[in-house]
Amino acid sequence: MIPSVLPVASSPEPRTARPSTSAQGRARLFPSATDAEWSDWRWQQRHAVRNLEQLEKYIALTPDERAGVQETSELFRIGISPYYLSLIDPEHPFCPVRMQSIPVRAEARIRPGELTDPLGEDKTRPEECIVHKYPDRVLFLAIDTCSVYCRHCTRRRITKGGEAELTKDQIRRGIEYIQRHPEVRDVLISGGDPFLLSEERLESILEPLTRIPHVEMIRIGTRVPVCLPMRVTDSLARMLRRHAPVYVITHFNHPKEVTAEAREACERLVDHGVPVENQAVLMRRLNSEARIIKELSHVLLRSRVRPYYLHQMDVAEGCEHLRTPIAKGVEILQHLRGFTSGLAVPHLAVDLPGGGGKVTLQPDYVVERSAHETVFRNFKGQRYAYPEPEETDCTCPYDDVWRARDAR
Ligand code: SF4
Repeated sequence: MIPSVLPVASSPEPRTARPSTSAQGRARLFPSATDAEWSDWRWQQRHAVRNLEQLEKYIALTPDERAGVQETSELFRIGISPYYLSLIDPEHPFCPVRMQSIPVRAEARIRPGELTDPLGEDKTRPEECIVHKYPDRVLFLAIDTCSVYCRHCTRRRITKGGEAELTKDQIRRGIEYIQRHPEVRDVLISGGDPFLLSEERLESILEPLTRIPHVEMIRIGTRVPVCLPMRVTDSLARMLRRHAPVYVITHFNHPKEVTAEAREACERLVDHGVPVENQAVLMRRLNSEARIIKELSHVLLRSRVRPYYLHQMDVAEGCEHLRTPIAKGVEILQHLRGFTSGLAVPHLAVDLPGGGGKVTLQPDYVVERSAHETVFRNFKGQRYAYPEPEETDCTCPYDDVWRARDAR
């Protein structure tokens, strides 16, 4: 049930809290890596941990994790960059970085109702790389690989490697599809992680897209700032800026992930004129507390990243153990709205299973509604009435003139 009692504001985290870094973990796990190697994203990719044997060299796994890695090995990929591995708390199985990267046995249990394609994307996929679900925007699936394979991934059917790498011809057909559809004004490039493409390859997608007159903006969904921040080089940021407006949508789920390195990656993008927004996923026992989400929002804003969405977890295969009840997200929002800046309050969204699209949720602040007034309770639980205006016709008389401006 959605709580109606209002929360007490929790004490704020100290503004001066020091961000974590990978330094300690790196010294412990990769003592022989040179600075040049550590800051080279291709070195990180080559040294990613991809199986049980490699993982056990670095982490003393719990029996549940060992069984999880074994039992999911035929189902889902694992892959953890040395950088992300270095953030794992070796002592605590509920470390949020650990929970996002190392499977447990529950992940191997596919429950009834869990879906291979939870967002129904394959039903609206006119080209291999295009998902066209909403009227004015498309998803462009550019790659099937990632720097870290998240245990909560919605697109595991793609990232588990069952699909072929996109060819140049498939990418060309995707771009031609967008050219043929003038209603498409917004292209979200995702995957997999598009920042794992070479700059040349990524630009070979961006460049023709920016030449399509009806494409007004491009978004790129990536976890690279979280899991492989060294990939965000000046050169990459400059290339993105050349194709503005390009928005980067990243995916921090816990304040522990916003390290000094991650913050630098985000700020590098922003400094080059590339706005960065964050979509977090709510996960049980990982970030399912208002205090954690609030701290995440604050640390992101300090890094010039806007908290954009807080997603209810999709009904993806093997994710039941990480899902929260719907009421939990609403309760968290109730602890945020009014208790912190509006910019720190993400939209709480549920992407409806099977392809219904996103809906947003928020606590219900309306107490009574009549023709004359609407009565609300505010964040402190106090009642306030908003009087309705006498005139209710909301037609804009200038709108015909405004809409006709392009025809003149
Ligand atoms: S980075 Fe994104 S696409 Fe890749 S595994 Fe994580 S959630 Fe899935």
